[in-house]
Amino acid sequence: MIQHLQLTPRFVKGVPRELEPGVLYVSMEYGTVVHSCCCGCGQEVVTPLTPTDWKLTFDGESISLHPSVGNWNLPCRSHYVIRNNGVIEAGSWDQARIKAEQRRDKAAKAAFYAQPAELPKPRAAISTDTAPATTKPGHADKGLWAKLRRWFC
Ligand SMILES: [Zn+2]
Repeated sequence: MIQHLQLTPRFVKGVPRELEPGVLYVSMEYGTVVHSCCCGCGQEVVTPLTPTDWKLTFDGESISLHPSVGNWNLPCRSHYVIRNNGVIEAGSWDQARIKAEQRRDKAAKAAFYAQPAELPKPRAAISTDTAPATTKPGHADKGLWAKLRRWFC
């Protein structure tokens, strides 16, 4: 059962230790959303905002989170959707579905985080491309030396 059917978004820098029930703490600084479980059990629910985790929509007044919040690792095992500050209870998942979702999540993260590992090569190419730029001060020095030489000659 869901006790908190309405959440009040609160934009914070850091998330407080004590979570007020019914408040959705949004920290853009840490790219995370934290709230006290909507079932009322008081457990902290952390939904990180990453390309492979949750996405937050803010229309200026209300917040929606996508996908749903499945607290499989909490004793309450609550499952709900946060849409326009409202909390909509979602059906409970069986172990097979939870396992399938965990596999999908793992694969999505592996695929996503594998990409930056291949980036160093292009990055190295970029750094050699920018190398001539770092020689500019040298040219400036030469110019200065040339001027100085002109003064001394
Ligand atoms: Zn709960």
